[in-house]
Amino acid sequence: MADLACFGGPPCFAEPVHVGRPNVGDRGRLLARFNDLLDRRWFSNRGPYVQEFELQLAKLLGVRHCITVANGTIALEIAARALGLSGEVITPSFTFVATAHALQWMEITPVFCDIDPRTHSLDPRQVERMITPRTSGIVGVHVWGEPCAVEELTDIAARRKLTLMFDASHAFGCGHGGRMIGNFGAAEIFSFHATKFFNTFEGGAIATNDDDLAAKIHLMKNFGFAGYDNVIYLGTNGKMSEVCAAMGLTGLESLDAFIAVNRSHYRSYQTLLAGLPGVSVFPIQTDEPRNFQHVVLEVDEDRTRISRDGIVRLLHAENVLVRRYFYPGCHRMEPYRSLFPHAGLILPETESLCSRVLVLPTGTAIDGSDIEAICALLRLAVENGPEITRRLA
Ligand SMILES: *Cc1c(COP(=O)(O)O)cnc(C)c1O
Repeated sequence: MADLACFGGPPCFAEPVHVGRPNVGDRGRLLARFNDLLDRRWFSNRGPYVQEFELQLAKLLGVRHCITVANGTIALEIAARALGLSGEVITPSFTFVATAHALQWMEITPVFCDIDPRTHSLDPRQVERMITPRTSGIVGVHVWGEPCAVEELTDIAARRKLTLMFDASHAFGCGHGGRMIGNFGAAEIFSFHATKFFNTFEGGAIATNDDDLAAKIHLMKNFGFAGYDNVIYLGTNGKMSEVCAAMGLTGLESLDAFIAVNRSHYRSYQTLLAGLPGVSVFPIQTDEPRNFQHVVLEVDEDRTRISRDGIVRLLHAENVLVRRYFYPGCHRMEPYRSLFPHAGLILPETESLCSRVLVLPTGTAIDGSDIEAICALLRLAVENGPEITRRLA
């Protein structure tokens, strides 16, 4: 124990271990694709790699259209605009801030709705209560890749004549009811940011089964160009580059391998942390496809004798850079904190969850022995809570 930072020694890990370290597919195949695209001198504007990537994505998801874009945030903005969202849109506060920002950026008011503490996603009963005459839609988020209450939200949207879309940034490669995520609501968006288990450096996509919507999105992401010199729509620049599509095509070839590593890491954490009082690994349903990209720990401070933040301090001191997603909640970040200073009053489950959650490192950048060491540190923290807290004060 003396050889730990919290006992005055060196940190447990000599190099920092991060959450969301990128997965990389076969380097040789990636570099061959880079060579091809340099020879071709076709770098953007729906080049051959983007076209091939979009076809492969649509096939994988079993969806009619999967349109690539520059990142997940612009995917949300373009989808929301193409769907005609306006006024107020109901969305969780327990999400990455881009879900809210994408709406606010377009002068749509994100109305934060509380979550179900068991699923960490929108509580459909609360959604119904947040609807006002200004509400135009709902943006559900499949938090941690577990599909949110898709049927209930679909039913509410149909009954109340609202548009439903999903932020599926966490749920690439996940399924629900025998269909892949990408098929639900009017559209679902993905992020392929470097920190996601499948990445295109930066990137994203919009999946939809609606041909007209897909046509609109294709125009919007390319300045509204319908052909040379012919702009027929308000557009922006949301295009994915060929370099990013080359990364995506290469990553798809290793997708199953990435998921297998994540699954194995997830199971190791579950086994090694079983029986540790006051900490539980967020349960993932395994009877449908899952990507296991997040290993989420919930800390019950009444039983651990060390706070969640105490555990974070210990792990950070030992170079395990765990993260408190989505602390402190969108509603406590600007501009929402100033716009809706009392939002927390109707978000008790969100506020409570923000104080319990810890995301652990996983992915191809770490191995089984790293996980054993991380779990040993967690055990040390929980079993010696008061002493660790004193030492790190
Ligand atoms: C990563 C993420 C985004 C944003 O995606 P970018 O590609 O980084 O713009 C949006 N929503 C959620 C839930 C995310 O995790």
